[in-house]
Amino acid sequence: MNKPIIVVDKLRVIYNQGKSNEMRALEETNLSIYPEEYVIIYGPSGCGKSTLLYSISGLQSPTYGDVYIRNKAISKMTEEEELRLHQTGIGMIFQAFYLISSLDILENVCLPKVFRGEKPSDRKKEGVRLLRRFGIVEQADKFPSQLSGGQKQRVAIARSLVNNPEIILADEPVGNLDSESAENVLKILKELNDIDKKTIILVTHNPEHLVYADRVIHMKDGRITKEEVFKEKRPPEELANKQEYGPIDRSPESSELKMLMSSFKSLLPQQVDVLLVPFKAKQLLNHLLSELSDEQVSIAEAFMKELLFKNIDMQTFAEHLDLDLDEGGAGWNKVRARSFAERTQAIIEQVNGLKDSPEQSALSLTEYLTTLFHLKLTETQKLRFQATLKLRLESQIGQIELEKRLDTRVSADGVGIHKTTAEKIVREIEVLMLLKYS
Ligand code: ADP
Ligand code: MG
Repeated sequence: MNKPIIVVDKLRVIYNQGKSNEMRALEETNLSIYPEEYVIIYGPSGCGKSTLLYSISGLQSPTYGDVYIRNKAISKMTEEEELRLHQTGIGMIFQAFYLISSLDILENVCLPKVFRGEKPSDRKKEGVRLLRRFGIVEQADKFPSQLSGGQKQRVAIARSLVNNPEIILADEPVGNLDSESAENVLKILKELNDIDKKTIILVTHNPEHLVYADRVIHMKDGRITKEEVFKEKRPPEELANKQEYGPIDRSPESSELKMLMSSFKSLLPQQVDVLLVPFKAKQLLNHLLSELSDEQVSIAEAFMKELLFKNIDMQTFAEHLDLDLDEGGAGWNKVRARSFAERTQAIIEQVNGLKDSPEQSALSLTEYLTTLFHLKLTETQKLRFQATLKLRLESQIGQIELEKRLDTRVSADGVGIHKTTAEKIVREIEVLMLLKYS
């Protein structure tokens, strides 16, 4: 109990190293966190809080230095160990919730369990228990869009807990909530620390939240500047070699650059997608399906997983979708199984096409979407379509901006695609991008 659960050791993070837009987000940082501590990382926007938190979670790789979880460097973990860390070691909560809109609330909560080989009935039991605990069990069958912000964040907390991790990391979890919902969520996190003995690290720029912490780590310009201890939970013998935090050196041009950079959204789609890796099969399936029974879907999901893991080929996949349920198949009819397999094949091929250079990817994506949606584009439209897709692939624009540019008139510098088609294109691209990161 008296050894740190997390050690940040001479960690530095530099984005775009060696390029003109190089950004030193985190200067050399040392930090030890002990089991059952509630630590808040506090500082102004752009000071490197999220970078530190994502480095601790393993979503962000260090440029220099290392992060150790229970004495094991994340960079030295095998794929298997890292997967286990994300599935059961650490629960993450974000400001933007990241619930999947096509899944109901209970399914969202149970997502992290989907690929841990548990029976649907078992995983639902734990999901229901958590929803009940957080007062949202009546919402179980609803979809995320039907819930308030505060309810959505409670769903996201339940999801982060469903595999019972020891550590909970929360990045500005109440940043989008009204003050009453915010307090509710902060109380839940406090309770998880007090009663469930979870180690919690919360990132915030709001000084009103600091009262909840045992220890507050203050950050500025990519450095830890000081710490405040409200409740000492660290063992006395460990405090002897306590970290000293040095003065900040502040060069005007670097803070100006930081100001500019902080206007970018801090959480990249890639970082989110890493978290979603185990859910890809489910996500792809949801994109392709609507009217099948639960059993037909869950068996197909298992085959889809085998396919994405490359344990079976497309032929075997299609055949098994078509086999009757009592013969070990998914019980679909032949026509549906075949067209479904073809569509899956096309998507997977296109995903591979996205691994080329941005120019190449945007070009092949343009051709793929033009064929899929039977688009009839002029040369100007086609060029704009391609340029817009490239921006999305490079995460320079998000899905809302993408949709806006697609359905804006050509005369107003848009691509001029009909609104309903633009919506479908956006959904297709989001699935492709999700599948791309592995
Ligand atoms: P905070 O969470 O405290 O607002 P971040 O850790 O998100 O700060 O960002 C620290 C600095 O690094 C900011 O200036 C931000 O703009 C920049 N930054 C964050 N992520 C990236 C990235 N992926 N590429 C380039 N710069 C980034
Ligand atoms: Mg942040």
